Amino acid sequence: MEKFRYLPNVSTLKLDESLCIGCGSCTLVCPHSVFTMNEKKAHIADFDGCMECGACMNNCPVAAIDLRPGVGCAAAIIQSWFKGKVGVSCETETCC
Ligand code: SF4
Ligand code: SF4
Repeated sequence: MEKFRYLPNVSTLKLDESLCIGCGSCTLVCPHSVFTMNEKKAHIADFDGCMECGACMNNCPVAAIDLRPGVGCAAAIIQSWFKGKVGVSCETETCC
């Protein structure tokens, strides 16, 4: 998934590890393997791999995950396929 990444350091993904009960659902549903499990707690292993699809948040039974799902990430990725990384930004009218 290295080629299909969001812009660096802009994901709204947050994980409260103190709430995590270690069910592992987030590791199963995340399409980009953002989470890993360690000592029965989820950890964010690849923050910039998150494309804000919301699957982890929607499947976490204890609301340990928070994010603002949106299309900005997907739009940026699609634009980057056509334009390359240059010219793809959340600051432009062509993105969210
Ligand atoms: S929002 Fe989607 S891509 Fe991001 S961590 Fe959750 S499941 Fe993975
Ligand atoms: S889905 Fe929630 S409770 Fe389950 S491992 Fe992930 S963060 Fe922890």
